[in-house]
Amino acid sequence: MYRIGFDIGGTNIAAGLVDEKGTIVSRFTLPFEKEAYRGALAEKLAGMVKAIIANSGIKAEEVASVGLAVPGSIDPKAEVVLDAYNLDLHDVPLRAEVQAELPEYPVLLINDADAAAVAELYGGAFSAAKTAVLLTLGTGVGGGVIIGGRLWRGGMGHGVELGHMALDISGRMCTCGVRGCIEANCAATSLITAAREALASGERGLLYERCGGDPMRINAKTVVDAARENDPAASHIFRDYVNALSSAVVSVIHLLDPEVIAIGGGVSLAGDFLFAPLREKVREKCFFDTFARIEPARYGNDAGILGAAMLGATEI
Ligand SMILES: [Zn+2]
Repeated sequence: MYRIGFDIGGTNIAAGLVDEKGTIVSRFTLPFEKEAYRGALAEKLAGMVKAIIANSGIKAEEVASVGLAVPGSIDPKAEVVLDAYNLDLHDVPLRAEVQAELPEYPVLLINDADAAAVAELYGGAFSAAKTAVLLTLGTGVGGGVIIGGRLWRGGMGHGVELGHMALDISGRMCTCGVRGCIEANCAATSLITAAREALASGERGLLYERCGGDPMRINAKTVVDAARENDPAASHIFRDYVNALSSAVVSVIHLLDPEVIAIGGGVSLAGDFLFAPLREKVREKCFFDTFARIEPARYGNDAGILGAAMLGATEI
């Protein structure tokens, strides 16, 4: 049997046919056209399902489920896209709409961060784990929680907001309007903010050199690279960042005692430069002597497709 997963993004709709082991065996991508798809998205997705089946040479009845991953909030019953700003979808009952177009398959809806967590169960960082947490460090901090081998959707259906757990109640203002969330301290953006603050206070080392004196050209990689080269200001910023991230990871460990915590998103590409000091700091702070493995997430761009497809295997 196969499953089809969609990763619906603001630029492209990516779809994949996924086998039982969680391998993407064929792909199909279309540009996402906001105007053209207004009110016609479900029809478009159903058309893509039919095209994938025809192009892959499989029989229609070999598809066990269709999953839709969207970058936005969905309702507690996983039926309605409440707000997906990049897609301009608001209060759209997308699951039912696609189900009506494809009555022959179970259709499931999932948030893209949750999809990324489900994906790691299949040959990724969560292989063989039953309890695991994904933290994605990007513009914000997102992630998902796996309990008992299934996505944890929360007792009230809201899922989890790992990025908005409190880390420093008198710290930086978060995008959500509350001070000191994990997101305000551990997003890639917080590396950039700290670097810009350093430049504003007169720092003239590698950070200044690499951005040509223009703070707007600083990105997270600028800071990580300068820290790797032992630039004092960048090293200080990166050490503070790892310190904050380790506290976030320790809180997650103390709450759930998971087997694995995977770290994804742009900052995780720093590799051992991030993971070695992170593991050391977690060891210093953790209440337990033995605790979760802390690993890079395996799936980047494929996480949405794979998680949306394999959601059917974990939930049906
Ligand atoms: Zn927040």
